[in-house]
Amino acid sequence: MKSYLLSFILCLFFFWPQQLRAQGEVKNILYINSYNVGYPWTDEVTEGFKQVIDFNPNINYFAEFMDTKRFSRIVVFPSFYNYLDAKYDSSNFDLIVACDNDAVDFFLAHQDSVLFKNKPLIFCGITNIEEYPFKNIEAYGVVEGRNLQQIFHSMHRLFPQRKNVYAIFNETVSDSIYKSTVSKFMLDYESSDLKTVSSDNSDSIVRLLQSLGEEDIVYLFNRTFEKKGLFKPYRSILNHITPPYHVPVFSDMAINENTNNVLGGERNRGQGHGKLVAKMAIKRINGEEISPQFLYPKGELVYNYHQLRNFDVELSLLPRDAIIVNKPESIFYKFKRLILVNAFFIIACIAIILILIINNRNQKRYRNKLEAARDQALQSESVKTSFIANVSHEIRTPLNAIIGFSDIIKQENTNKEFDEYVNHIFESSQILERLVNDVLDLSLIDANEVKLNYDNIHLPDFMDELVKRNIVQIAHYQKPKLKLKHKLPKSGPENLYVDKFRLNQIIQNLINNAIKYSFTGTITLSYAFHSREEIKKLTELQTYDLKHQQYCLISVRDYGIGIPQELKSFVFERFRRLDQVYMGHHKGVGLGLNISKSLLNIMGGEIWFTSVQSKGSTFSFIIPHIPKP
Ligand code: ADP
Repeated sequence: MKSYLLSFILCLFFFWPQQLRAQGEVKNILYINSYNVGYPWTDEVTEGFKQVIDFNPNINYFAEFMDTKRFSRIVVFPSFYNYLDAKYDSSNFDLIVACDNDAVDFFLAHQDSVLFKNKPLIFCGITNIEEYPFKNIEAYGVVEGRNLQQIFHSMHRLFPQRKNVYAIFNETVSDSIYKSTVSKFMLDYESSDLKTVSSDNSDSIVRLLQSLGEEDIVYLFNRTFEKKGLFKPYRSILNHITPPYHVPVFSDMAINENTNNVLGGERNRGQGHGKLVAKMAIKRINGEEISPQFLYPKGELVYNYHQLRNFDVELSLLPRDAIIVNKPESIFYKFKRLILVNAFFIIACIAIILILIINNRNQKRYRNKLEAARDQALQSESVKTSFIANVSHEIRTPLNAIIGFSDIIKQENTNKEFDEYVNHIFESSQILERLVNDVLDLSLIDANEVKLNYDNIHLPDFMDELVKRNIVQIAHYQKPKLKLKHKLPKSGPENLYVDKFRLNQIIQNLINNAIKYSFTGTITLSYAFHSREEIKKLTELQTYDLKHQQYCLISVRDYGIGIPQELKSFVFERFRRLDQVYMGHHKGVGLGLNISKSLLNIMGGEIWFTSVQSKGSTFSFIIPHIPKP
């Protein structure tokens, strides 16, 4: 709670004074300009000043114009002070802004008056800053620095053959300062002859320009021209000083995009000066430090492209930071947007085409690689298959010998001690033989190389033979309660056109499993012929695509251990031996059903089963019943 109170008090402490100032304390500035509204420099400075000050709601400014361009300062000064005194409350202003020499001189002349006493001064438009000591006055300002030496040097560099340098001044304070400055540094140019001319009259200047020739060059300092008693800004007059004249004319501040007759000059932007003055004023009013006290913004050296061409000036001779106005836009700049948009589209199209080409090439490369990999795989697959076939064959020969001889020994042997060993050899070699056969089948199936030898078989005989053979087999397992029989249909076809060897293999697999996974009950082997529709009704093969009209359905039913529901989906998977999961070990590697299913698929049949755990299983399959061709 205490900390909340403390933060609240701190907030009050920090924000209270600003709030007060923002709401109440309005400061007043008196902005005095030497010249009149409409005079370009004056208007520019005023505009810049306004732009910055207008953003400060707590500052009011009052602009006054002395008009000393058109009326003598001797006349203006006393009447202007009386005017201000009558208009404003003497203690009203917090700061005075004075633009140009006359305004500053006016302030100095009345510095002890009630209006100006102890008021800080901020000025601009002063060239001869060293002549203003500002004794006992708090003064800051923007000095109107000139680059005269640089522009005169540029005139000499561009036109070295023009020896007579005419500098035309008028009678203003600034011009007299410029005159002495120029006279001093022109002494360094021995080949040039500086001729200073004083004139306020535009007609006389035009006459002078028209009389000058190939050895002359002109710098015009005049800010205004008088014509028939009226002062006009020289910016408008200069455009009326029309050729023919044969001299390059340089001038200050007049040169811009609309000035055709001036070749070059120095440009001071009044707006920039006005802004600087306003920023200084705001700082002073807010009690911030103003540093440096006097600013010296640099003027720009500007050249007129038309005149540069007119006098065949080599552009590389211009100062490095020169600004060229009136330069015709190159075709690129003229149609810049159009060209850029088109270029973008062309680049985008090219990029898309390139991407497509690269993509296509990559695809081709990948396809080739895939084809090569496929060929290689096929080759290695067939190599593998023939290798497995060879190895299986090579293993089978000695294996047959072992099985055969162990069988003979088993029958001939009278020594009971060896009975167990011989039996073991016999059984193991049988398992090994089955495994070798399975692996061989698997490799043939994978290589799609299972060859079927169709023949007509008589099913009742075939089944009979199978049952007899397996009854002998059951005896080996020592499962006395387990029986095996076949169930033949009472009517119907008895022959099946099929690969006998493979059919035998499939049924034998099912019987083997039934014997392996049952202990009691009768294993029943049955067959029946059905139409496609009957098969669909009888079995779970509704979705299976039965292509043939007739099928032979063969089943092996047992009452053995059955298959748990959760393991049913794995029964036909390769090397899956479910009994490892849910009961003890039985001999087998988990290939029998997978091979049977694959063989049946090759033969156009299908296999499935139904099974209930602990109750028994029925494995059934169908084989197409095709008449012998
Ligand atoms: P295995 O060589 O292991 O018998 P199979 O592919 O023939 O391989 O059979 C896969 C698995 O399916 C067997 O391991 C067994 O768990 C189960 N199985 C197959 N037939 C039966 C059946 N009649 N009764 C119970 N389980 C069976």
